[in-house]
Amino acid sequence: MPAPLKTEAIVLRSIRYGEADRILHLYTPQHGRIGAIAKGVRRARSRFGARLEPFFHVRSVLHDGRGDLFTVTSVDTVATHASLRDHADTLDAAARCCDAVTRLFETSSPHPEVFTLLSNELAVLSSTPSLAGPANGLAFRMKLLLAAGILPQLGACASCGEPEHLQGFSAAAGGVVCGSCEAAAFPLDEEAYRFLVSAVGQPLARPPEASERSLRQAERAIVETAEHHANVRLRPLLGRHA
Ligand SMILES: [Zn+2]
Repeated sequence: MPAPLKTEAIVLRSIRYGEADRILHLYTPQHGRIGAIAKGVRRARSRFGARLEPFFHVRSVLHDGRGDLFTVTSVDTVATHASLRDHADTLDAAARCCDAVTRLFETSSPHPEVFTLLSNELAVLSSTPSLAGPANGLAFRMKLLLAAGILPQLGACASCGEPEHLQGFSAAAGGVVCGSCEAAAFPLDEEAYRFLVSAVGQPLARPPEASERSLRQAERAIVETAEHHANVRLRPLLGRHA
């Protein structure tokens, strides 16, 4: 019998399975994303209680079963982020953050920084519901691109190295591009550019501000980067791109 796996985890998704079980997608610091089954969790007197809902941060003990799924044998709650469920906006924002993590980090490769980032984001949304919106959501995604090693080049033209006159964005080129290289790029205005640069460095609780027009451009840069360099389709926060 392999030793049980003791790990902190954030519940990304929780899916009803059979009569009383749940299949869980968990994000862990050292084992990336893993799947687990919690047996009997939906029975009234389950020893797991209601501790395996989405966004819960738990300390868990998992058994390596046959097949792909671990079996949950015990759970303690670290944080419930309960107030996320009080507002439709925060619930939606938190679900989209978990979805972005699921898509960009779907393997068991360890990314402890992603675990910390997600845990912080859920805490921020839980304590400051007014932050649930595109600026915070896009800033979170920029930090995910950084963790995934696909942060676009922002300091100089990604094609020729020119540090000035940056006015477009090209995921194929790998970042911002200058006026002479913008053939395959879309226009990125100054405000959208500043948003992308600031979003990486500023804390999630203080995302940079930008107009909706600029946020749409920033989102397009993020979505196209994930698509081009990680083959991942992130769900847009702002809908159709300008
Ligand atoms: Zn250039």
